[in-house]
Parts: sequence; C-alpha cells; structure tokens
Amino acid sequence: MKRIEKNKFYEKLNDLIGEYRVFAPFGDRYRYIEDVSEIRFDGLLTKMSPKAHFLPQEEELFRWDERENIKVKDVNDKYIVFGMRPCEVRALSLLDLVFNTEKFPDPYYINRRKNTIIISIACNEPLETCFCTSFGYGPFTKGDADLMLVDMGDYFLGEGDENILDLFGFTDSEEDYKELKEKAESKIKRIEIQGIPEKLEQIRETDFFKKITQRCITCGTCTFLCPTCYCFDIQDRNRLNGGKRVRVWDSCMFKIYTQETSGHNPRYEEYRRVRQRIMHKFAYYPSLYNQYGCVGCGRCVTYCPVNFDIREVIREAGGYNG
Ligand code: SF4
Ligand code: SF4
Repeated sequence: MKRIEKNKFYEKLNDLIGEYRVFAPFGDRYRYIEDVSEIRFDGLLTKMSPKAHFLPQEEELFRWDERENIKVKDVNDKYIVFGMRPCEVRALSLLDLVFNTEKFPDPYYINRRKNTIIISIACNEPLETCFCTSFGYGPFTKGDADLMLVDMGDYFLGEGDENILDLFGFTDSEEDYKELKEKAESKIKRIEIQGIPEKLEQIRETDFFKKITQRCITCGTCTFLCPTCYCFDIQDRNRLNGGKRVRVWDSCMFKIYTQETSGHNPRYEEYRRVRQRIMHKFAYYPSLYNQYGCVGCGRCVTYCPVNFDIREVIREAGGYNG
C-alpha cells in the first residue's frame, strides 16, 4: 500500500491545475476549479453527479458560419476528475457500454474519457440510502479509477497506477484498509435483485406499473441526478451569421421525449414512462449487457420530491403476483 499526507497531495493537485483542467466537488455539484481551496465536500455524495464532465448538460458538437464552414469543437484538453465515489466510477463503465461501442463510437464522450485521470475516494461512511453492494461491488472498489484514495484522517492511502502514485509522491506503507472496508460494507443494506429482470418482464403488462406510478409526478429529477442516465436531445441553434449544434440532457420521464413528428407518442401515459425507467435499469440493461443499469448511489431516493423509492419498487416487483 502507498500513503501520502493530505497537504502534500493537495499541493501537487494544485500544481497540476493548468496542465490539467481539474473537475472537483463544489458543494452540491462538481465544477472545474482554479485552486484546490475551492474544493468543498458537503457530505459523501454531491447532488449532481460527476457524469457532467463526461456528458455535459449542454455540449457544443460543432458550429457553422454564413459560408457553411463547419468547425468541430476541439475536445483534446487533459482533465483530472477528483473525488469520484466508487459508484460513480462504476456508472462510467455503464456509460461506456453506450457511448464507446465499435458500431456507434461517440467521439466527444470517448475523448473526454480517454483524456481524463480519475481519482476516486473510497466511502468510509456510506449513507443510509446507499445500496451499491447489491450489484457485486462496494464502497472500496477501485474499478476504472486510475487512483483510489482512502481517507485516513491526516493522510490518504492510495492504490492504482504506479505513474500517478509517483507523480503525487506517494511513499510505501505497511498499512491496509481492510477493517475500514469491512465496517463500511457492513453498514450498507442490499436489495434483492436475483431474478428481478425476468420478474419485471413477467409483470410488464400487469397493473404493477400503473400502481407504482401513483407515487411519481414524472418531474425527471431522478434522471438528471442519476450517474447512469444518459437520455439526450440534439438541437440546432441558428443565428443570423451561423449557428451551432448542441447536445443537451433530456429525460425519458418527459412526455415530449418520445413524441413523434406525426403527433403519436408511444409513451404518452405516465406509467409507460415510469415503466421505461425501471425496466431500462433492471431488465433491458441486464439483457443487453449482462449488467444492471443502476449502481445503487441512492440519489434518486434522496432527492425525489415525492419519495419514490426505487429500492421499494424492486422489492415490491419481486413479490408481485397480480
Ligand atoms: S421518481 Fe420522483 S424524481 Fe423521478 S420523476 Fe418520479 S417524482 Fe420525479
Ligand atoms: S440509485 Fe437511483 S440515481 Fe443512483 S444509479 Fe440507481 S437509479 Fe440512478
């Protein structure tokens, strides 16, 4: 294991700002910082997830001028995302399945992913709403992070890419984090997901989804905060002397998201949209990729304005015989 004093780590991170654009926690969200003194951890998880770096809420794809010259946005900056939690790192591996495929590679996403060093922090004190261990990983899983830190008070233990450990000046240590890891894992309440994809397919056409939709106002908050949701819209914004094409976040919870030009909407009724959200994460993702589309971060549970609890929905689905 390797270790580094926190002040030494942050000094080095500060030195790297300039060479890298650093995206770090800033209260309830992440933002690109100019100095490490701006970093603010308000609790374990930010409300807005760090997916906003890899898939910005609004992203210019290209612009054109009056002579129809097209300029594709340069996306080759180098980045560090600091402070991601293991569930958020895992969410990226799920987004990779969608945006980094051989058939439909998304150059904007792929460039950011390729040019980003991910420094995660293990979760010593998981929240009551965390259920990450349900999905076969946990609060101390490094996953795709280049470096995972464990907060030991005045210092960090670090695990990951040797070059990055050397870059920051980590030194050898006899310590490990086994006890902290076991304590953290024991605090997390798992949900039972064995057999859920098949069960959801079985009850797809029953009243189950109409019943649970009575608890949802389809505001879309959950989908905007979710680190694995990726619905988007493409808009052309024309001006007098040119314009730009942008990609913006959208949500399957919005009625207009699936409205076709003819006026027909296959998900006009709310229950069809709620069904899509649940089925996508717990039935379609497993059937397409053999992975669940939820990482158990609990954001949708914490911030839903009407207390729609996805853990409850999965539990009820498991026992539904209607
Ligand atoms: S589950 Fe909650 S947050 Fe999500 S759309 Fe429904 S009401 Fe909004
Ligand atoms: S717990 Fe909710 S917000 Fe978090 S990954 Fe699962 S569906 Fe998304």
